[in-house]
Amino acid sequence: LFSAVEMAPRDPILGLNEQFAADTNPAKVNLGVGVYYDDNGKLPLLKCVVEAERQMLEAPKARGYLPIDGIAAYDKAVQGLVFGADSEVVTGGRVATVQAIGGTGGLKIGADFLKKVNPNATVLISDPSWENHRALFSNVGFPVSTYPYYDAENRGINFAGMLAAIDAAPAGTVILLHACCHNPTGYDITGEQWDQVIASIKARNLVAFLDMAYQGFGDGIAEDGAVIGKFVAAGLDFFVSTSFSKSFSLYGERVGALSVVCASKEEATRVLSQLKIAIRTNYSNPPTHGAQIVATVLTTPALRTMWEDELAAMRVRIKEMRTLLVEKLTAAGVQGDLSYIVRQKGMFSYSGLNKDQMVRLRGEFGVYGVDSGRICVAALNTKNIGYVADAIVKVM
Ligand code: PMP
Repeated sequence: LFSAVEMAPRDPILGLNEQFAADTNPAKVNLGVGVYYDDNGKLPLLKCVVEAERQMLEAPKARGYLPIDGIAAYDKAVQGLVFGADSEVVTGGRVATVQAIGGTGGLKIGADFLKKVNPNATVLISDPSWENHRALFSNVGFPVSTYPYYDAENRGINFAGMLAAIDAAPAGTVILLHACCHNPTGYDITGEQWDQVIASIKARNLVAFLDMAYQGFGDGIAEDGAVIGKFVAAGLDFFVSTSFSKSFSLYGERVGALSVVCASKEEATRVLSQLKIAIRTNYSNPPTHGAQIVATVLTTPALRTMWEDELAAMRVRIKEMRTLLVEKLTAAGVQGDLSYIVRQKGMFSYSGLNKDQMVRLRGEFGVYGVDSGRICVAALNTKNIGYVADAIVKVM
């Protein structure tokens, strides 16, 4: 049965982690990961999470199966966070929200449902995008193509190209968009550019699927969420996948969600029934622990404030690392405008380094980033940034 099975290619980023682990250089730094580390290079355990878990331990609960769509209070809290609790789509019951296994689970449930209601569509993802977008939608059976995004020459976004591709897409095409903190480039379009994208999606009858994996890491929770309000205001039906992996530092708990905005409450009820079938046939129902933590934090005012402060601290630290990196590179004599590093949002930076330079960074200095030039700024800290900046200067 398995004699002809081919070896699958290694996941490029997980492969880097293995290489990093095997590297004996004591000064090695892993900037390949998509994980936030604190200034001591440690994965944070948020205080709001510890406190929520303490409260949960005080009133321990048996672990029965959850409903297929997850913890009701969690789904409601997600809606409040993503759309605003007072948003008409929420109060009017027009959003179908389900708990999902991380942001990836939200994307997969959305893709399965889309394959039923929109089977002949093409999915357009940004060029480049998070590696898994293409694989995930292809696996469900969609042809996946790209719209222009990164503009290497101008260190930014090829917005004219992006808009032209969206404008040329046939009705029904699924447009996958990073709601904020674009992975891997770090470049986000502006509010006015979002307005143009939304107008085009509406005019051409396209289907928007927003991937929101970094809410709060760009400019703030509400600021990053504003784009969702623009889609609501345009009167569109659309999808939003949510991940709390980064914003709660709960990577291994697999906490996420999928929300589908519908035209009416009655439509949302039907859509929810189909999302439940997608969940049932994938993994039956979601796990309890992580979503209970997030629901407790989001619905307990003191914990919510604690979370917002802790998330703000992560966001601010990343921005400080961006500024410090530019300072160190400039001090070391790097010529040219490096302001793009500070302009980028979220955990990643397309550094502008090429593959050869990234290979040299690894081989000669033990500084691990992705061959595309992507580095995780959230893995820089006051102890390693000098070493990393020196290494970058030497390969430039
Ligand atoms: N979308 C994007 C853009 C991401 O960067 C990630 C995580 N790397 C995900 C989705 C998946 O998130 P999760 O780990 O919660 O499944």
